[in-house]
Amino acid sequence: MTRTRLNVREGQPSTAAPKLRQIEAGQKVSVIGETTGQTIQGMDLWYALEDDSFIWSGGCEGFVEAEDEAAVTRPSRAEIGDYAPPLFETAPGIRHAARGKRPHGLEGLIVHFDAYRIKAAGNGADDSDRRALDTLRGGQTNGYHYGAISRSGRIFLPEGFTWDSWGYHAGVSSCPVTGRSGVSQFYVGFELNNPGKLFPTADPKVFCPWFNVVLNAKKQPVLDSKGRATRRSANDEWYADTDVRHASGGNIKDGWYLPYSFAQLESLTNVVIYLARRFPGSFKIDQVLGHDEVAPTRKNDPGGAMGDPAEVMTMADYRAFVKTRI
Ligand SMILES: [Zn+2]
Repeated sequence: MTRTRLNVREGQPSTAAPKLRQIEAGQKVSVIGETTGQTIQGMDLWYALEDDSFIWSGGCEGFVEAEDEAAVTRPSRAEIGDYAPPLFETAPGIRHAARGKRPHGLEGLIVHFDAYRIKAAGNGADDSDRRALDTLRGGQTNGYHYGAISRSGRIFLPEGFTWDSWGYHAGVSSCPVTGRSGVSQFYVGFELNNPGKLFPTADPKVFCPWFNVVLNAKKQPVLDSKGRATRRSANDEWYADTDVRHASGGNIKDGWYLPYSFAQLESLTNVVIYLARRFPGSFKIDQVLGHDEVAPTRKNDPGGAMGDPAEVMTMADYRAFVKTRI
């Protein structure tokens, strides 16, 4: 809350920056981050607001940290710019294990797919909201920590989730930007509901996920000389040749993938932009990475699922795309 009438400065935390508007004393202001700036009366802490503007912290009091990310008031599109602010939904009854505070605040994001079912059965309609919640529940069972995004674009967070606490989602990993290992400590994870790498079958119109093909003792699909897997059940999940795509290049492990849905990619992008604006001092778009970029010998997500159905994106393509939208 403002203690006194305050000038809102555009672009820089300084009285030298242009005055955007004034806020009267006693107003509630929604703050998206903190930064250091010009020292006034011995205080150099400034608050970042959502339209790339700043107010001096010395003119504010009664700062309240939001408890649950999903409880944070959703800013309007007009307040935040030309993107749809993400709507975070708390998944009731699901909690993930946090291991501590992030050492330098939230610095990036890891894109995953959950390699899990997206449908109720067969090649029917997506049942992805329910499946994404299953993935979130699995995170609780396994001691992990992440958000989930369904194919309808819904964004689910566990109860009590905060951006500045970390928990496991990327495993043994190394950041190609900073060289640091154990990236879960620094970067939040999002599991996008998607069946993962797909396999052609004897029927050229049918592609199957790992959970509907015959596996060997090492849980790898058994492939014939043409690289085709054997479908296990005609009733279990599969995808039509017209819905899948072959992709390679950059971080993408050569193979077949079901692209993320348009709504799903939009939600991810809105989350990335939101975090970049909310944590301008720490969050870097160059640290929005695929799991296959931080654990390339072990992982293939998001691979060729990245991008919307109309366009394959490597993670480098995606970072360039997001930068055009900030
Ligand atoms: Zn992953």
